[in-house]
Amino acid sequence: MEDCLFCKIAHGSVPAYTVYSDDHVLAFLDIAPRAPGHTMVIPRVHAEDLAALPPGEIEPVFLAVQKVLRQLMASLNPAGVTIGVNQGSISGQTVPHLHIHLIPRFEGDGGGSVHSVVNNPPVEDLETMRQKIAFK
Ligand code: AMP
Ligand code: ZN
Repeated sequence: MEDCLFCKIAHGSVPAYTVYSDDHVLAFLDIAPRAPGHTMVIPRVHAEDLAALPPGEIEPVFLAVQKVLRQLMASLNPAGVTIGVNQGSISGQTVPHLHIHLIPRFEGDGGGSVHSVVNNPPVEDLETMRQKIAFK
């Protein structure tokens, strides 16, 4: 994808603070870090989001997420790490190339949990929701 910023980073035509790379994946520091060590993992192949990622790329991407997670824990010794994906512009996705955020968490950092991103519980009961969603 010629116009995709993260494809350009993956191909080396835009520089990044890379912390890990292999044939399938790149991990680099977020340019506007929300915490020390805020890192993103991307597939080298262009995929707008997780739904579009070819199944064969899932394993290398999530192996890299685990690798980078372990490295962040070992190097920065955070109290925890929030791992997340903004899927779709309404959820905050600004770059249409899949990226998994790893945000190290430290005592007193003022951050919240994944639950704090939205509070919109369903009006239906959970069995109704299950029936809507469950694989037929
Ligand atoms: P999202 O809002 O989930 O789509 O995340 C996109 C992230 O990409 C934001 O956190 C940006 O700070 C980050 N970002 C944008 N441009 C660059 C860049 N050139 N290098 C590194 N990170 C970037
Ligand atoms: Zn791309």
